[in-house]
Amino acid sequence: MADFQTDDLNAATIAAHAGGALDSASGGVVPAMHMATTFARGTDYAPLVGDNTYLRYHNENVRVAETLLCALERAEDALLFPSGMAAVAAVFRTVPNGASVVVQKQIYWGTTQWIRDFCARRQITLIEVEAADLDAFTEACQTHRPALAWVETPSNPWLRIVDIAASAQVTKATGAILVVDSTAATPVLSQPLRHGADIVMHSATKAINGHSDVLAGALATGDPAAPIWQAIKTDRNTAGAVLGPMEAWLLTRGMRTLPLRMERMSANAAVLAQFLNDHPSVEQVMYPGLSDHPGHGVAAAQMTGGFGSLLSFVLRGGGAEALRVAGRLRLFLRATSLGGVESLVEHRHTIEPHTGIPQGLLRLSVGIEDVGDLQDDLGQALG
Ligand code: PLP
Repeated sequence: MADFQTDDLNAATIAAHAGGALDSASGGVVPAMHMATTFARGTDYAPLVGDNTYLRYHNENVRVAETLLCALERAEDALLFPSGMAAVAAVFRTVPNGASVVVQKQIYWGTTQWIRDFCARRQITLIEVEAADLDAFTEACQTHRPALAWVETPSNPWLRIVDIAASAQVTKATGAILVVDSTAATPVLSQPLRHGADIVMHSATKAINGHSDVLAGALATGDPAAPIWQAIKTDRNTAGAVLGPMEAWLLTRGMRTLPLRMERMSANAAVLAQFLNDHPSVEQVMYPGLSDHPGHGVAAAQMTGGFGSLLSFVLRGGGAEALRVAGRLRLFLRATSLGGVESLVEHRHTIEPHTGIPQGLLRLSVGIEDVGDLQDDLGQALG
């Protein structure tokens, strides 16, 4: 690491310099990749370098990426995992059998599906609630006194907005740990810890990496001494849900342009949301940047620099029309996931038909392409 103090610097500067990471052996301005799984000891049997003994505990590339993520998230500690779901599971494994958890309704379907299964296996009472409705969230926390409350904002694919500061007040008063899945916002557009969340979670597979070529997850906290954080950290290293050096190296490389990418992607998404809002074939647009979005005021207060790259819209013609439009798009790739430099379109109803997703809904992950090209593509596909 170079002598690089991140406290007074803005995200774009911290990211461009990878938080000050250099290759200390060569002076290279890019950190080296360290692939060794085990580390030598000297004749006195002390580790030759620091306390490095084995890759599961001592992974230099993971340390570099975690330090950078920490600086961007304004956190005190961060942990990387081999996928976003591994990070979700790491949090829930700390919940004692028989406890209860409050989880936001209609969030990323993979999270809901796994939590339902996990809670059933561990006799944990699961209360699913519309957390964008503060009264409903408050009532659920007051009634059930959960060990943990889990929210996702903006939510995928409904783009609902949860008021993090107000939710944190509720969880503090009722004794729950508040965890925020901030994947769609990224550490550049929102820092939930600043608003009182205990832990922030990301699928780093998405915009944090940004190039659709790394599967990774992340957790960050402002209170590394908290028992839950210590439990997660120990479990990560001993149970082995660790990221490989190559993925961590790629993640660091991806994060160097995260602020720049989020600026462009948010600006593109805002233009396309307005275009779709004005289009006669479109019944509804879900994008928190639109002034008539129900969560716009809260989003504007807790997000900075844009509203993200994720947007959903509902076509008047229902499922057949949505699939027809998706099939006609030329630039938007028909693929799941989000946050990459290339724009994607997804018909979520095909993926999760029994969850109340409107058949006519298409979800867009807006990339960094020329916005005029993207708008033309949508225009020709809508017809
Ligand atoms: N959280 C959100 C909001 C997601 O969109 C996803 C994946 O799409 C996940 C968590 C899970 O992350 P991963 O696919 O990296 O396991």
